[in-house]
Amino acid sequence: MSEFDGAAFVRFLRTFADRIHERRDELTRLDSAIGDADHGINLDRGFSAVRAKLDGLDATDLGATAKAVGMTLISTVGGASGPLYGTFFLRLATAFGDTQAADAQGLGTALRAGLEGVVQRGKAALDDKTMVDALGPAVDAYEAAAGDGISAALEAAATAAAVGRDRITPLVARKGRASYLGERAAGHQDPGATSTTILFESLRDAVAES
Ligand code: ADP
Ligand code: MG
Repeated sequence: MSEFDGAAFVRFLRTFADRIHERRDELTRLDSAIGDADHGINLDRGFSAVRAKLDGLDATDLGATAKAVGMTLISTVGGASGPLYGTFFLRLATAFGDTQAADAQGLGTALRAGLEGVVQRGKAALDDKTMVDALGPAVDAYEAAAGDGISAALEAAATAAAVGRDRITPLVARKGRASYLGERAAGHQDPGATSTTILFESLRDAVAES
């Protein structure tokens, strides 16, 4: 695929919503170890609402679709992850504007803007043991491979997200609820880094389908 268009975006959103639903209990179990046992429930609520919105949506403009997703997440998901993922999609919306198809570079620019929004909003740095530890490396890897096209860049991004997710498992958390646990958070996989990895795997697979 040389361009990311509205159909690919919708395919990605449906894939991600399906996988979050399938893995809701796993995400919630991870959050029960170092949080308040609601991450899977939060995201499943949000992406079920996104799925319901997609049916009535004219998904031609990438920015309009991303904006609808962001607003839906912010209004339906409680907890840290709702505003964070909401901000991610709102920043994608601003970056895409009214464009109907992004090339490899354009999708990279949007993903970078999404990451910057999450960092501004949540103030997490690398190694704080949050979703940023999957998102940051994924965007870096995407950009490094963007010259090889969207599919290759998303393949690299999904791999980097998973590596980031696993890399921080031994760490102590410095942001979010898990940070209240001190040393006890060490050795537990972060729920948000896990859902962010699912996001990039969904993006990779939805694009590969076309
Ligand atoms: P809550 O912690 O409010 O219950 P969730 O359980 O839905 O929200 O999400 C928890 C996840 O959110 C964590 O695993 C972590 O990855 C992410 N997170 C928490 N705080 C931050 C932050 N300040 N910046 C980035 N990600 C964060
Ligand atoms: Mg939680």
